Amino acid sequence: MNDKVLVVEDEPKLAELLADYLRQDGFLPEILADGLAVVPWVRTHAPDLVLLDLLLPGRGGLEICRQIRTFSSVPIIMITARVEEIDRLLGLELGADDYICKPFSPREVVARVKAVLRRTGGISEPPNSALSLDETSFRATLRGRDLDLTAVEFKLLHQLAAHPGNLFSREQLMDRIYPDGRVVSDRTIDSHIKKLRRKLAAVAPGEELVHSVYGVGYKFEVE
Ligand code: CA
Repeated sequence: MNDKVLVVEDEPKLAELLADYLRQDGFLPEILADGLAVVPWVRTHAPDLVLLDLLLPGRGGLEICRQIRTFSSVPIIMITARVEEIDRLLGLELGADDYICKPFSPREVVARVKAVLRRTGGISEPPNSALSLDETSFRATLRGRDLDLTAVEFKLLHQLAAHPGNLFSREQLMDRIYPDGRVVSDRTIDSHIKKLRRKLAAVAPGEELVHSVYGVGYKFEVE
């Protein structure tokens, strides 16, 4: 199955133990101990599930959970050291998928991970999973349908979709699309984006994937 599981836990021994059990079951665990590192990591690595300790240095599990939910529906299992906390957490409607209380047996955690993944549809899909980009052929498909993009449109989409939620200025996009330093006008980027959006809309009508932020630039985001 090789599902990527992010283990956010600041007690190194506990984190290692969980990672070992997950590995034995065929998961690909990754450990983060610093609360501040979690949100950027989730954005760039799109894990299949997050095990999230409540008390962390840097930024607590509550805040992390809230922030992840603004851009991702990745299953989250919250871990707390106090059973009384769970009622309070449930009341907060954080969008976590399950709660585990410490002390736990690693076996139980792995079982819960599997149960949550089963419930949420086996391998959880990152928000843009329906989009597939083949860099060798410059071919992009959305929900299995060929978008028929030009090379420039492909590069634009690739740049934006690789960093969902990140805002890119026209200048940044130009730098990445024309690495030879060619200078094109802002309007050129706008017109490529316009065509790109039209092609996306043809496959996914009513869904905005490439958003423009007035006066700033563009970002890729799935609502
Ligand atoms: Ca902790």
